Amino acid sequence: MSVILIGATLLLILNGTNFLASAERWAGESAKLNLIMVMLNVALIIAGLRRLADIQHDNERRVEAERRAAELASSDVVTRLANRKGLADRGLELRQELDEAERWMAVISIQLHRFKAINDRHGYETGDGMLRRIAAAITEIAPKDAIAARLNGDEFAVAFGIKAGDSGTAEQMATDLLRRVTSPFDINGKMLQVGAYAGIAVGDPKESPLPDLLRRADIALDRARSGRSARPVSFDQGMERALLAHVEIEQGIRYALEHQQFLPFFEPQVDLATGNIIGFEVLARWNHPLSGIILPEVFIPVAEEHGLISRLSEQVIAVALQSASKWDSNLSISVNISPSQLADPWLAQRLMRLLAESGFPAERLIVEITESSLFADLELARSITASLKNQGIRLALDDFGTGFSSLAHLRSLPFDVIKIDRSFTSSVTTNAECAAIVRAVTDLAHAIKVPVIVEGIEDAPTHTTVLGYGCALGQGWYFGKPMTASQAEQLIEREAPAALPDRARRAN
Ligand code: C2E
Ligand code: MG
Ligand code: MG
Repeated sequence: MSVILIGATLLLILNGTNFLASAERWAGESAKLNLIMVMLNVALIIAGLRRLADIQHDNERRVEAERRAAELASSDVVTRLANRKGLADRGLELRQELDEAERWMAVISIQLHRFKAINDRHGYETGDGMLRRIAAAITEIAPKDAIAARLNGDEFAVAFGIKAGDSGTAEQMATDLLRRVTSPFDINGKMLQVGAYAGIAVGDPKESPLPDLLRRADIALDRARSGRSARPVSFDQGMERALLAHVEIEQGIRYALEHQQFLPFFEPQVDLATGNIIGFEVLARWNHPLSGIILPEVFIPVAEEHGLISRLSEQVIAVALQSASKWDSNLSISVNISPSQLADPWLAQRLMRLLAESGFPAERLIVEITESSLFADLELARSITASLKNQGIRLALDDFGTGFSSLAHLRSLPFDVIKIDRSFTSSVTTNAECAAIVRAVTDLAHAIKVPVIVEGIEDAPTHTTVLGYGCALGQGWYFGKPMTASQAEQLIEREAPAALPDRARRAN
């Protein structure tokens, strides 16, 4: 700009000199003409300068707009903290600084607990106010060189430098942050408070850049959340291994489904007074080529999480019904249904197809539903259970006593059997409270004329005790552990009602 201004001034001077020289050389008309020319030149130069200033101004505005756009793209509009992109970008700079100073990086992930309730109850404006206060508290406590970010709705992260290997500083910082974030805030005259979980990961940024540390801090955060830990949880390699195992199990389940590795095992259910087998509960087992028989607690939660449980259960039920269709026609077969299956409007049709394919009568099939799966959507559960009942399938309420609002479910859904959970049975002879619960549930079931099956009877004293409470039906290791279809067939053939417990004990 200054070069241009100097140029313009020189032009003016030259024009001015020109004019004086001309005035001396020619008089009259030619001097007037020259004057007009000079004026025109001056006007042109002024217009040029104006245009130049406008261009300069436009440039400044564009640079400012670009700076603002970049700032918006890397910061969170509500709290003004960095967003995920901002954290990643500034993380690169922080990594370089720490690398040069031979320091480590610490990343703390924080997730608010039940923040949604604040939005729902007090509106988004109050929710945003709360987020801004939390962001300000984080910025205030975090070290000066820290990058504080809001990653999404209720998730924050802080990255900063620590002395190499000094995880204690990171833990103290996380504790302070948690304490501050979960303290009450005055938002427009309302004292509001949220819970929060925190995960910590530290490392040498040369080996573990910020995205790696953030992922580890998130894994630790998951651990804090699932353990409902009020204290921050630090990442350790075991957590990564558990996560890898989870991924391996998921992939293993997919492979196992393709190769029919899931099998039904059968646990006998008996008439407690006579010992006669009245039916079997079908329990899934994974017949793994390397690990052998794997129990449902390992694969059912993973199958549920990845939407594979319907396929898995159906595979197991199909094989179970094929086997059971050849057995004594008085025996019932109970199958377990997961919460997500109970949200499938086609469940009854799917089961009817399996019944048709195996020739097993619907009246001998019992579907076991846990209380917790009813809790998710009672209305949907009601319509799906009604369609099961319409097909003649019976319903059992599984694990009774472990869920919520049990009595309400008993009244509102058409159960044919109630199964008292093993957690009560196992202490019925030693714990007065458990004994009282088993007795009360049995009395209640009698009053509403629904039979009870007691789960988890492991020994003779428990058998005698629950029989004394008036329980008519039961199952458990005392009568037989879950067994293969051919073992179940042998047991059915050998059955001599009164002697079953003794023989079952010998068989196991
Ligand atoms: P559940 O339906 O309550 O099944 C009873 C569980 O208690 C079974 O564990 C059984 O082996 C165990 N059990 C039975 N009697 C005794 C006893 O006397 N003592 C002890 N200590 N345990 C006993 P399992 O087979 O590991 O199954 C666990 C859960 O997995 C089942 O609980 C059921 O909810 C679920 N499950 C099993 N198979 C399937 C399936 O095919 N589909 C679905 N969706 N869930 C299944
Ligand atoms: Mg069950
Ligand atoms: Mg159960």
